[in-house]
Amino acid sequence: MTDTASPFGDDPRRRIPRTDTLLADPAIRAAAGDLAPETVRECVREAQGRARSGTLAPEQVAGAVVAVLTDRSAVGTTLREVLNATGVVLHTNIGRAPLSPAARAAVLAASGYVDVEFDLDTASRARRGRGTLAALLDAVPDAAGALVVNNGAAALSLATTALSVAAGRPEVVVGRGEMVEIGDGFRLPDLIETTGVRLREVGTTNRTSVQDYADAIGPDTGAVLRVHPSNFRIEGFTGVPTIAETAALCRDRDVPLIADIGSGLLRPDPLLPDEPDAASVLRAGAHVVTASGDKLLGGPQAGLVLGDAALVERLRRHPLARAFRVDKLTLAALEATLRGGPTPTTTALHLTRDDLRGRTRAVADAVGGTVVETDGAVGGGSAPGLTLPGLAVALPESFATALRAADPPVVGRLEHGHCLLDLRCIPPDDDARLVAAVRAVAGA
Ligand SMILES: *Cc1c(COP(=O)(O)O)cnc(C)c1O
Repeated sequence: MTDTASPFGDDPRRRIPRTDTLLADPAIRAAAGDLAPETVRECVREAQGRARSGTLAPEQVAGAVVAVLTDRSAVGTTLREVLNATGVVLHTNIGRAPLSPAARAAVLAASGYVDVEFDLDTASRARRGRGTLAALLDAVPDAAGALVVNNGAAALSLATTALSVAAGRPEVVVGRGEMVEIGDGFRLPDLIETTGVRLREVGTTNRTSVQDYADAIGPDTGAVLRVHPSNFRIEGFTGVPTIAETAALCRDRDVPLIADIGSGLLRPDPLLPDEPDAASVLRAGAHVVTASGDKLLGGPQAGLVLGDAALVERLRRHPLARAFRVDKLTLAALEATLRGGPTPTTTALHLTRDDLRGRTRAVADAVGGTVVETDGAVGGGSAPGLTLPGLAVALPESFATALRAADPPVVGRLEHGHCLLDLRCIPPDDDARLVAAVRAVAGA
């Protein structure tokens, strides 16, 4: 690296290496690998900018460019791995569910040419993603049909559209207390009505009865929709019919019941008593269940549709199914998630305070922090209000910003004037990297 001594006083910005000097630097050229020249220039400009703003010393610019280029040429993406020390298991801003090692391996294995839609025995077209669908049906024997689309919102939109508008009965009956906004300003009612579905709202915000649903069902009713209020809670004078009661009505009136369970739990989990699961909801009589793949199921972003074989087939034949189709990487990751052992999501959710004590003490000792009791959360709009008793390493609040800039970036939680590092969502193998990142910040 070449720095030119400055004749212009001691403004450190004058010591920032010039672009052509950096581009000619042998270490930078080596780190660039086969990245495009524009990408290398962009990294150089970015590091110079950090030096100009004072967050990087001029002497560190070349090293910083090498580090960024090495990362980028190795993984080819600007997405950066993050150590999740927030204690929030499904954190929407950092990618919701982390994939299991098996799912990661499956993504890699499926990334070239694969027989996703091809029968190698007969050399003819085969059902796309058949292995994944078989895994779903094995995981939920109460479902006779299964379909995978891009996300939970797509599954819901497809189910309501295919069973109402496309069947010539455009109305979908839904309870007023179940008109959910799922985040970032997106509201399920708006989504559903985009395709021409007419929502017929029944009941009130806090109470809806079977009779309300019964009164609303008419010749234009294509389906009844129940939505799990996944990201909020209403307390006090409240009441909604059970799925079984709604399903009995729907059976009587010969109208399909769609249940959006949200978080993709396939079977009951005693840790999450208020979260509906696909098996129980189907057994209670729902005809079609929709859910997310990357919430409590702990898989890739996907939308699951499970239920009556003939109804699921109607969804599969609807043109929107093609627009919502998932790619081979998702199918691979989902199949591996379904066939594999506990996901990182399940493991993190079930860690107790006692489970976390040894590791948290060790990290606190290694970085000079203190151990405090804290609560983790499920996150991702699942199980609102449920806390996961745990522990954290408390550091001065000022660490938060520096840790986000560490390598790898560490995202903690700010609480009572401290930066808390909760190990719940950190794989134990990464404890050493966490310690190294904190020490680097403390030493800087
Ligand atoms: C999260 C959620 C959705 C949306 O699922 P995505 O996979 O995020 O598209 C829809 N309905 C409910 C009840 C949810 O909780």
